[in-house]
Amino acid sequence: MGQSAEFDAIVVGAGPAGATAAYHLAKRGFNVLLVERGRGAGSKQVFGGRIYAEPLREVFDDLDKAPIHRWVRRERFTILDGDRELTLDFRAGASTSFTAYLTQFTQWIAQKAVDAGAVLADEVRVDGLWLDGGRVRGIVAGPDRVAARVVIVAEGVNRLLLERAGFVHRASPRELALGVKEVIKLDKKTIEERFGLEEGEGLAWVLLGEVTDFIPGGAFVYTNRDTLSVGLVVHLGGAYQLLRDQVHVLAERLRTHPRLSRFFEGGDIMEYSAHMTIEDSVGYMPEHFAYDGMVIVGDAAGLLLNTGLTIRGVDYAAYSGYLAAKGVERALSEGDASAEALRRHYEVPLRESFIYRDLMRHRGASYAMKNPRMFREYPRVALDTLEEIYTLGRETPLPHEALARALSRNRVGFAEFALRMLKVVMSL
Ligand SMILES: Cc1cc2nc3c(=O)[nH]c(=O)nc-3n(C[C@H](O)[C@H](O)[C@H](O)COP(=O)(O)OP(=O)(O)OC[C@H]3O[C@@H](n4cnc5c(N)ncnc54)[C@H](O)[C@@H]3O)c2cc1C
Repeated sequence: MGQSAEFDAIVVGAGPAGATAAYHLAKRGFNVLLVERGRGAGSKQVFGGRIYAEPLREVFDDLDKAPIHRWVRRERFTILDGDRELTLDFRAGASTSFTAYLTQFTQWIAQKAVDAGAVLADEVRVDGLWLDGGRVRGIVAGPDRVAARVVIVAEGVNRLLLERAGFVHRASPRELALGVKEVIKLDKKTIEERFGLEEGEGLAWVLLGEVTDFIPGGAFVYTNRDTLSVGLVVHLGGAYQLLRDQVHVLAERLRTHPRLSRFFEGGDIMEYSAHMTIEDSVGYMPEHFAYDGMVIVGDAAGLLLNTGLTIRGVDYAAYSGYLAAKGVERALSEGDASAEALRRHYEVPLRESFIYRDLMRHRGASYAMKNPRMFREYPRVALDTLEEIYTLGRETPLPHEALARALSRNRVGFAEFALRMLKVVMSL
């Protein structure tokens, strides 16, 4: 078994979290190895398509040079059930998020890490954490052990290394969701005409109801420069009991849905991918974000917020990588990579950051995902209420009468509806 010289830090996984941590440590003069099992950084990533910019401005002073496709100004939310459709269309005064290909965005960060002096070892799978009496000493990859003063684990949601080493619990389906995505090629002008966008402007569209067969989850459409990212996410807890078809069949139905197909018509499917994502972040979090000789960042640390209307994973991942780099720098300069020192310099700032605060404030969002009625009966209550209000015969119902009839048709009690909606509004 080979053993090489010690690195200051080894980062496992060149996603946005790992690449950012490697970049900031290399920039500060540390000797960093960034290990990625895929060919090149970013090759294994799947995501919907929108990144929030504000936290990243602190992390990258040249963010405007990143491979940004469109700045999102238009937000759309739709409930679909057969012929019926309820859509909210909002155009923001300013944009705070952009669409991008995660692969390109991650490559951009990883290139900065390499330019700053980090060594990128791609097509290398880390098989295990090198443990010595509970302390992480480095990594094991094939026949090799590579030592580091600190290992930064950025392996993403499928955190097999952490699970095998006993640092985290085995994931439960209640904590995870499955996402599938297609990339559809259309020319730039067609995208802008079909979605009512100004030049360079982007749209983020969330859809509920029939698009996931009323299973907890939702579908999404993001406009890139000259492609669309179209897909859906189903909560594994719900899918396990309720899914009647394979998820790729749902994706096909989404693209060919009579109310939606005109948006995708004539487009070529360039790519199909599937990936897990986190649904219950707080449940998925490890007990600590730092241990002796190791810190955990990004999805592997459960740092993803999905409110149902917005999803934040990439900015959280990159920002946690940045906080980890700052914490590791301080610990290494003090010559102390113990759990205590790493917790003081990384875990405490992370718990005090907007990421952790928001994840705790929104922890009730996963409550909605655990209740299938939120995705079956409640969207129908909304559609039935509007149908009562707009599809008039002789009588014109008062709004509360329309709601009462819609509730009764869907066998939903008023008190149940009011309380659940209040809980959702308070937690999203
Ligand atoms: C369908 C879907 C839609 C999403 N939409 C959005 C969105 O619109 N906006 C948003 O902000 N977020 C979105 N996300 C979430 C976002 O993709 C993640 O939060 C983000 O990618 C997490 O970054 P990460 O660096 O922690 O992990 P990852 O991006 O998963 O990167 C982990 C890396 O580690 C590598 N790796 C893993 N194990 C090993 C090993 N043993 N050895 C070597 N390398 C290893 C992997 O190959 C991978 O490159 C979405 C996710 C999905 C699945």
